[in-house]
Amino acid sequence: MNNHVTVLEIDGNALTHNLNYFKQKLKPETKILAVVKAFGYGSDGVQVAKFLEDKVDYFAVAYSHEGIALRNAGVKTPILVLHPQIPNLKDIVTYRLEPNLYNFKIFTAFLKLADEAPLMNYPIHLKFNTGLNRLGFWHTDIPKILSSLKETNHVKVQSIFSHLAASEDLEEQDFSINQINNFAYIVQQFFKHLNYEPMLHILNTSGVVNYSKAQFDMVRVGIGLYGFGNDVKETAQLKNTHNLKSIISQIHIIKLGESVGYNRAFVAKRATKTATIPVGHADGLSRKLGNNKGFVMINNQKAPIIGNVCMDMIMVNITKIDCKEGDEVIIFNNQEMIQNIAEISETIVYETLTAISQRVNKMLKG
Ligand SMILES: *Cc1c(COP(=O)(O)O)cnc(C)c1O
Repeated sequence: MNNHVTVLEIDGNALTHNLNYFKQKLKPETKILAVVKAFGYGSDGVQVAKFLEDKVDYFAVAYSHEGIALRNAGVKTPILVLHPQIPNLKDIVTYRLEPNLYNFKIFTAFLKLADEAPLMNYPIHLKFNTGLNRLGFWHTDIPKILSSLKETNHVKVQSIFSHLAASEDLEEQDFSINQINNFAYIVQQFFKHLNYEPMLHILNTSGVVNYSKAQFDMVRVGIGLYGFGNDVKETAQLKNTHNLKSIISQIHIIKLGESVGYNRAFVAKRATKTATIPVGHADGLSRKLGNNKGFVMINNQKAPIIGNVCMDMIMVNITKIDCKEGDEVIIFNNQEMIQNIAEISETIVYETLTAISQRVNKMLKG
């Protein structure tokens, strides 16, 4: 916590609403894994996890240090580490995190560690590549995996999973269904030769929306919890969780011909009233939002960003807005504003949210 006046308020009620929205799309027995990687998609992974821990079955983070932060905050829920590395495996065990083992190099390293410790039935997760071609074993690796597993009771396969490459894109429906079928085939091979049944999961947010039949035992919801369904209709059913607010630090009256900001990018064609706001590209606002492309809201009116976005500040045009120094500034507080920023920044909302930097104060309410 810092006392930077630029604050990202995380709406707890919206998180709960979004979680319940996905729950009602699923069978009551389907488990929910909440993805809280990358600081809870640019919010605060620890605060989000503490808030959700009684309402979900699992958490996932990308890297082990993100999981350690959750454990240090007292989170007891199982935590899947999606992208561990061999040097992290000791910490993973110390903090009772559950590694995704995606190739023989890390699988063998973990089995060795588990044998030496020795661990008993330590939960591991096996990821299979079904077409994303990012992380994961190939189906041809199954016999070798099975023979290693037969020789040990130091680990236990808690789940087998895969990840869809284009779950949000209905033009790629054939590809996605093929991935799901490949996954089902892989799982069958395991079930034939293991004397227990690991959990299965393949769906992310837009997978739940478009392929809910493939929910298996658990789904992994990330962006949906934070208010985006990858589709206008779905997003309209969700509530916004990320509200970025600041205040007006200073107001200037600029005369005709005077300029504002670096490189004199804005030159006043008439007398102009400007407000300086303590949020800049180091807080996660793209420089693409400068020069009248992006705006903030002050007293319910649009104030366009003029000139270049600075590292720590923006200047906005408030000529027509009745406001004073210290007044509240909304950088975004709904999905439409976030989508607009993503579009102007030539990216997707995932990047706009995760770009919100660690300098911004984060506060969960609700
Ligand atoms: C990030 C991630 C998710 C969450 O995806 P969303 O589209 O945000 O729901 C699920 N699974 C894996 C493997 C991921 O890396």
